[in-house]
Amino acid sequence: MTAGLTPTSAAPEPAPARPLIGRANSSAFFKGQLKNILGAPSQVGEKLVVEDGRTIRITATKYSIPPSDSVAVPLATYGDKGLLATLIQTGKASELLEPGAANYVSDLAIFEFIGTMDQLMVPYIKSHAYHRALDSVTDPRVVEIGFSMPQMLDLQDLRRHEDLWRFEEKWGIEVILQTNDAFRRHKRLAVFDMDSTLIQQEVVDEIARFVGKEAEVSAITARAMNGEIDFSESLRQRVALLKGVPATVFEELKSVITFTPGARELCKALKMLGYKMAVLSGGFIPLANYVKEELGLDYAYANQLVVSADGKELTGELTGEIVHAERKELLLQQIAAENGVPLQQTIAIGDGANDLKMMHRAGLGVAFNAKAIVQAEAPCRMNSNTLKDVLYLLGLTREEQAQLC
Ligand SMILES: [Mg+2]
Repeated sequence: MTAGLTPTSAAPEPAPARPLIGRANSSAFFKGQLKNILGAPSQVGEKLVVEDGRTIRITATKYSIPPSDSVAVPLATYGDKGLLATLIQTGKASELLEPGAANYVSDLAIFEFIGTMDQLMVPYIKSHAYHRALDSVTDPRVVEIGFSMPQMLDLQDLRRHEDLWRFEEKWGIEVILQTNDAFRRHKRLAVFDMDSTLIQQEVVDEIARFVGKEAEVSAITARAMNGEIDFSESLRQRVALLKGVPATVFEELKSVITFTPGARELCKALKMLGYKMAVLSGGFIPLANYVKEELGLDYAYANQLVVSADGKELTGELTGEIVHAERKELLLQQIAAENGVPLQQTIAIGDGANDLKMMHRAGLGVAFNAKAIVQAEAPCRMNSNTLKDVLYLLGLTREEQAQLC
């Protein structure tokens, strides 16, 4: 954030509907460590004079930052790692500080966020920060802010810092923090959970409904959630209930499946960028294969149900390896290795507890519209009505996204 610019005019003006604070769109390219801005011009086209006699031309301005004769420009040195925060307005602010601010990431919110991050620097060092809007310049819903990495705090500590949670709550903004390195923008493998991630249903529940055994399946699910039985055991018990179900059930279920909004666009965009993609599902292979074909994915891994010798019905048994949390993590590593992709260049997206291991293993792990406990434990979380918003985490602007999907 370029600080130290002064108001364009001292003449009294009627108060604007929305405070015009802090959108610093200077295209100045800092090549050294500037110490102090000496002058105080702020008109577009004017020059800022800095202490060593060099100048920066202001290319755009929209401010009323308090004037100061000499404002320190951040002296934070660049570490080997930067930090990148993506701020997404969710429309759920706990208090409204500006009219309409529920719909965009306001200038005040950006300032407060940078201030909050500055406070976290231990020992204190003012962060070097810049920001850019990824969708709309005037009323951005998504803003990216780059920082120097605070010392003494690692990324996991930062993501859990209560000051950031308080900021999110107050402004209704979700903050997604990532290491800002070459791999942040250049991922090459994306793995997805299926149920309630790529598709909106839980397939086991749909099958249960289809065969009229919802109550039995729900009871097993509840026991698993209470920790009485683990995922593999609950899967076996639920599958046992499917004994005698016509093998055609999956064909019929395809008409029930609805893709999560943005799933097709996200996969299309990633495909165009050359990604390998996989669905890693704790559900069943016939539907995982269907999802793979529909979305143009490269791999589908899921559980395999045994069909009777005459091919007519399910036996209520499973064959092959069960796809649970550990298996998903292993598959991510295996597919990455097969394609020569370093783990920093991978993304894992899911909503369930059995997705947490792969999320933590991946370069970017996102809990998408996940249960509260999964959101709390995941590396990042995003609550959005479209999966396409994941593209913002890769730094793609709305215009760039339009080129891809
Ligand atoms: Mg799921």
